[in-house]
Amino acid sequence: MHKNIEPLVNDGFDGQHAKRILSYIQSQREKGKNAVGIYCGYAPIEIIQAMNAVPTVLCAFADKTIAAAEAVLPANLCPLIKSSYGFIITDNCPFYALSEAVVAETTCDGKKKMFELISHIKPMFVMDLPQLPDEREAKDNWMTMIRKLQTFLENTFNKKIHDEDVEAAIKDSNKRNDMMNRIFDFAKLQPPVINWSEMYDITWLAQPANFSDIAPLLEETIQKLEKRAADEVVFGNADSPRVLVTGCPVGGDANKVFRIIEELGGNVVVIDSCTGMKPFMEKIAEDTDDPYAAIAERYLKLPCSCMTPNTHRLQELDKIIERFKPDAIIEVVLHACHSYNVETHKIREHAKNTHGLPYLKIETDYSEGDIEQIRTRVEALFDSL
Ligand code: SF4
Ligand code: SF4
Repeated sequence: MHKNIEPLVNDGFDGQHAKRILSYIQSQREKGKNAVGIYCGYAPIEIIQAMNAVPTVLCAFADKTIAAAEAVLPANLCPLIKSSYGFIITDNCPFYALSEAVVAETTCDGKKKMFELISHIKPMFVMDLPQLPDEREAKDNWMTMIRKLQTFLENTFNKKIHDEDVEAAIKDSNKRNDMMNRIFDFAKLQPPVINWSEMYDITWLAQPANFSDIAPLLEETIQKLEKRAADEVVFGNADSPRVLVTGCPVGGDANKVFRIIEELGGNVVVIDSCTGMKPFMEKIAEDTDDPYAAIAERYLKLPCSCMTPNTHRLQELDKIIERFKPDAIIEVVLHACHSYNVETHKIREHAKNTHGLPYLKIETDYSEGDIEQIRTRVEALFDSL
């Protein structure tokens, strides 16, 4: 946060989202709500919320648990998987401790096999994610898995999930997404009046919370951003490079990439990943005959690299480039994430040929060893603009 800009929310909002989420989930548990751990953007949180339970994100982004994980997992595995697993086996994850069941998906091979290693600890439901999203059967198959998730949750918690509660959760998600997109719109301004850490924090806070709990914070945030815009309180200046960051989920120790961009005078105006804007971009159809089908349709549109072909990602990229007008694209690929890494070729070509935008791929992990090398490469990118 720039020293002379008042934070959007005062009580430790700046980079402290984990503490706030933890105390939120603890308060929900104290009210008698169940907590269900999730690992992926494909987890249909509306089903969990319809049971009046709270979803709890279990993906981890810290280097400190990786050494412990490597006692079991191969070193040449994505740091997100190793970090998440390391937190569990060292009994260091308060979010996992609060979770009473876990929802997992068959996305990438590493995650899928890691889930097997923790499947005995807490009740777990693995959803078989169709990976050819354009096939006719895909939606029906995914809907079947969402129905099976409903049964798993009902049996595990001895509660019934009613269709009208699923419909209400859909409407709440849509209202939340509307408000989130109003917040993201402040990054469209040139220069923007919101920076990467604020967008990052608010996306983390908004994802698991019930709409009625998060709506006041979102409203307050919008009002503060409107005031910043009116007072012309901005980040950087008209010449600051506007950067779209895409690729693997980035968080915690991998936030070094965002920090370097900012330190070199750039403004991150889009975070196009599951730890950024991606979960908030699409709406779920309301008042349909079958809310489960509506949820299946929306989630299958998530453009993750585990899908093939992942054409939806290029279409989404076109929309966000048009909306946020970046000057450059930086793609973050976590070590050993083969699907995002292979897809970088298409993204680079698309950036260059369709949008005339320079593109930089950064392959990294959660360690600090490559900070200077990343700085040099981002600096060279900015010099070329
Ligand atoms: S990048 Fe893909 S596998 Fe990872 S959380 Fe997002 S949707 Fe799930
Ligand atoms: S970043 Fe890639 S390898 Fe890691 S969990 Fe996500 S999809 Fe799997």
